[in-house]
Amino acid sequence: MVQALVARGVDSELEICDVQLPETGPHEVRVVVRGAGVCHSDLSMINGVLSPSFPLILGHEASGVVTEVGDRVSRVGVGDHVVLNWTPPCRDCWFCQQGEPWLCTATEGVASTPRGSLADGTPTHVTLGVGALAEEVVIGENAVIPLPKELPLAESALLGCAIITGVGAVRNNAKVRPGESVVVVGLGGVGLSAIAGARLAGASRIVALDLNESKRDLALEAGATDFALADKAASKLIRSLTEGRGADVALECVGRSAAIRTAWGSTRRGGRVVTLGVGAKDDPVSFSGLEIYHFARSLSASVYGSADPDVDVPAIAQSVLDGRLDLDTFVSHRIGLDGVPAAFERMHAGEGARSLVVFD
Ligand SMILES: [Zn+2]
Ligand SMILES: [Zn+2]
Repeated sequence: MVQALVARGVDSELEICDVQLPETGPHEVRVVVRGAGVCHSDLSMINGVLSPSFPLILGHEASGVVTEVGDRVSRVGVGDHVVLNWTPPCRDCWFCQQGEPWLCTATEGVASTPRGSLADGTPTHVTLGVGALAEEVVIGENAVIPLPKELPLAESALLGCAIITGVGAVRNNAKVRPGESVVVVGLGGVGLSAIAGARLAGASRIVALDLNESKRDLALEAGATDFALADKAASKLIRSLTEGRGADVALECVGRSAAIRTAWGSTRRGGRVVTLGVGAKDDPVSFSGLEIYHFARSLSASVYGSADPDVDVPAIAQSVLDGRLDLDTFVSHRIGLDGVPAAFERMHAGEGARSLVVFD
């Protein structure tokens, strides 16, 4: 039995439960979790935005140590440090064959997967095929990515969701070039990662916008050159920094129509707007036909940073080893499993950066 954070249904109290995980099967590994981030998508699992099955083990952004390998596992061995990947590509479907593994049909739209059981035998499900807010996970070998042992292990959890999403969107979707100006809207774990990605890409101006003034220091620490509250004054500031044009690129890291409009309005004619946030079905965003034509901007969505984690995670890990990316700047709270409800409240209130569950 291992301890795990379990939700029984939408808006129910979270419980720390003893869970029986399955045996480690062929092509599977058992990982002792050392760090697990509390991500906005975990909140979306329990507040009705997404529709997983319950009881549900939360968590999908994690790192740890491989303690057991099943038959025919070739990727990793016992003792390896790994980060978990919640969109493990099958490498076989049309999208994987096209080189778009983030759109793999094997993981498309799967909020939860049956795995394990509660102490009374009730079958449980795991978030995004992972269920990482738990002492251990049993997971397919294609969902673990080996990490250099020099990396801080617990903090490396963020490479599996927030950082690959933020840095990946900068590199793979917006394709930010040195000297370009970038606006980042919404400064949670993903937004801060997008700032760091823009800095790595050599952006000249990185303007961070949020509704909460308390994000200013976090944004500047992550590499933003400017911070503003996301209101009318922000648009003035951005234009004053870009000779009146607007930014080359805007990254929307919230998943709300108002934030998408803010990102859209922050860019120049011909600018690139990329949405990283997971929005809600009942929150439409509208554009007039005239403005689409007149501004000649592009608007696209980035799913999991349009990244191939097997390629992008090692590259980002190298940036950490080179001292160009500091994982500590993304973590504002180190907590235990019992601290997750308070972490969701901070997220709801727009306070702090990532909360990281650290297992000793
Ligand atoms: Zn996530
Ligand atoms: Zn596939």
